[in-house]
Amino acid sequence: MIWGRVGVVAVGLALLSSSSSAAERVGVAWHPSKPKLGDVAWLHVRDVPEGASVEGSLDGRPLRFFPYAGGQAALIGVDLETKPGAHLWKVGVVEPGREPRNARGSLTIARRSFPQERLTLPQTMVDLNPETEKRAVDETGQLTTLYRTVTPERLWRGPFTKPVGTPAAGTGFGARRIINGQPRSPHGGIDFAAPRGTPVVAANAGKVALVAEFFFPGRLVILDHGLGLFTLYFHLDTTTVVEGERVERGRTIGTVGSTGRATGPHLHFGAMVGSARIDPATLLGLELLD
Ligand SMILES: [Zn+2]
Repeated sequence: MIWGRVGVVAVGLALLSSSSSAAERVGVAWHPSKPKLGDVAWLHVRDVPEGASVEGSLDGRPLRFFPYAGGQAALIGVDLETKPGAHLWKVGVVEPGREPRNARGSLTIARRSFPQERLTLPQTMVDLNPETEKRAVDETGQLTTLYRTVTPERLWRGPFTKPVGTPAAGTGFGARRIINGQPRSPHGGIDFAAPRGTPVVAANAGKVALVAEFFFPGRLVILDHGLGLFTLYFHLDTTTVVEGERVERGRTIGTVGSTGRATGPHLHFGAMVGSARIDPATLLGLELLD
């Protein structure tokens, strides 16, 4: 369990706006304090009075805050191909009638080694004809646009649940794939082997953002949990939801299949935070309880 070493480490350093004479601190904690590639991490800004707003960024990309435990929190996705090392963050708390309070620092992203996987697939799934190639590129573009769409409201609550009832953990996150002898992009999710027809459930509450049949992912459902968080369910045999519909955690959204580029029936489960590809296993272990 990757999430076992979560600690509360205060790393907030107050840096002041030039006009302020008294040092006013912003209490900030990262969970975990040193996230790894593929982790979902979160930043907790403590003691945020009602009526105050919090904004912040990591590597210049905006963070999306929501009220949490007397303060505000934001999820951060560490993309599986992020450069390990120091990444700069900034946070500002703005309250009416008060000097803005700011904090900044650097977050250290730790390495993680990923397995290598050799797969053999029918050559027609690897060497695409120009028409199929165009289709696949268009579909990837549609997904990229979708992941950038930020619903300004947090739709999820409580823990994330495994999308299939199988006892085994999902496998293969970040695997460097060599398909028919050629290196391909790393595997962005985890796979659960399960018989065709096994129900697939929503990992948390959200809105159905996309139901489609795409070349590589096959029949798919994507849920929007708000504030830039999405979960992805690929290679489905059937789908039982429609776009725009609100779903609760545990609601059946489809069944396991082997549509698209799949070697057998399984669920490919993915998760995106602010366009970063994260390990859904870390989302399932997220300790942010309210
Ligand atoms: Zn997969």
